[in-house]
Amino acid sequence: MNLEKTADVFGYKIFAGSLDELADGIREDISKDQQNVIFAMNPNKVMLAKKDAQIKRILKSADILIPDGIGLIRAARMFGEHISERITGIDLMEKWCQIAETDQLPIFLYGAAKESVSGAVGELKKKFEMIPIVGYNNGYDQNAAKVVDKIQLSGAKILFVGLGSPAQEEFIYQYKNDLTNIRLFVGVGGSFDVISGQAKRAPKWMIRLNLEWLYRMVAQPGRVKRYGFLLQFMIYTWIVKWRKRNEG
Ligand code: UDP
Repeated sequence: MNLEKTADVFGYKIFAGSLDELADGIREDISKDQQNVIFAMNPNKVMLAKKDAQIKRILKSADILIPDGIGLIRAARMFGEHISERITGIDLMEKWCQIAETDQLPIFLYGAAKESVSGAVGELKKKFEMIPIVGYNNGYDQNAAKVVDKIQLSGAKILFVGLGSPAQEEFIYQYKNDLTNIRLFVGVGGSFDVISGQAKRAPKWMIRLNLEWLYRMVAQPGRVKRYGFLLQFMIYTWIVKWRKRNEG
């Protein structure tokens, strides 16, 4: 029920409720033994998928697409759709760690450099003392099939994958049927770097003012190429809106 609130943005069903509603909905599904795949959607992925049919198929295969990126929320508003709040992979991950501690749901972390993922495990154990983390693996091992076996053998029910996009979405899409124990898959991007302290998240005031993208652009100039997408995304949004107006 909680998971049914969605907004149609460029043909994607984006979750439109709050983080708490999302967490409650997933918790209910897990209690019924249902599996969910969650990917974060942002302008970058909308533009990538526009050029790549396989990425589009993978993104559309998700059970839930969360609105990560203020650009997506603004576009939704332009199309007359309402999204309650921005939800990022890291917000969802932190919320889930809290629930996993209470409900004792075993977790596996896959992705990022060795020191980053092990550091994230250490930090999570400090913050949530009883958190059942049953395994982790860095994201630079070449043999994905071995990692799949390791995850399956760990008995984990929750899997956070931080390989960056679109690698993490491709991994989940390819192996979700082999990972029969997992009840929740979440693509979390660079979250392990942030949790371990290897990378910093923007200060709270910047997040509140929807300027996290600006912080990341300045803090990680290597990512600047990605921001070309933002302009393309804005133009695309206007074109779609214009078409809709002419159709209607
Ligand atoms: N990464 C990985 N294996 C790779 C390439 C990248 O595990 O082969 C990790 C990288 O160390 C980082 C994350 O993927 O922790 C990507 O972070 P980014 O912030 O770029 O994520 P995105 O913006 O794509 O969500």
